[in-house]
Amino acid sequence: MNHIKSILIGIWRMMQGMYISMLNFIRPKVTEQYPENRGKVFPHERMRGQLVMPHNENNEHKCTACGICQMNCPNGTIQVISKKELDEETGKEKKILDRYIYDLGSCTYCSLCVESCPQDAIEWTNEFEHATFTRPKLYNKLNKEGSTLMKKEKKN
Ligand code: SF4
Ligand code: SF4
Repeated sequence: MNHIKSILIGIWRMMQGMYISMLNFIRPKVTEQYPENRGKVFPHERMRGQLVMPHNENNEHKCTACGICQMNCPNGTIQVISKKELDEETGKEKKILDRYIYDLGSCTYCSLCVESCPQDAIEWTNEFEHATFTRPKLYNKLNKEGSTLMKKEKKN
């Protein structure tokens, strides 16, 4: 008698499993079929995809080369390389940004750099296609060639 009971329970469990499988078979897919749907994938705007330094139409950025982001980065991902330049207004030397180097390969996307920047000079975009065959390509210079510090608007 116990033998028949076990067989019936087994059949019932199998039917339950098949029911769940069939249900998932007809349910709409929720996973993205990447890369087949490349160009149609729109990640959420808050997604941390790529660290960038925005520049305006005059090729100016907001980075003062203070180095706070570099100090706050737990992985040594950022190198703020500065140089000295003569300030024509004051006649004194001032520190300006030479190169802002960001190693995507060691970034954990913690966003401490963005949060700690007093100038809001860096931000995230949701660009996510970073695959490359060579590691050096993961090093990015975020300040554009020939760019300068954004001039502050003078208050009247
Ligand atoms: S997101 Fe985090 S790990 Fe990446 S550069 Fe910023 S502080 Fe460093
Ligand atoms: S990005 Fe911000 S915190 Fe980093 S060096 Fe530039 S101004 Fe300073």
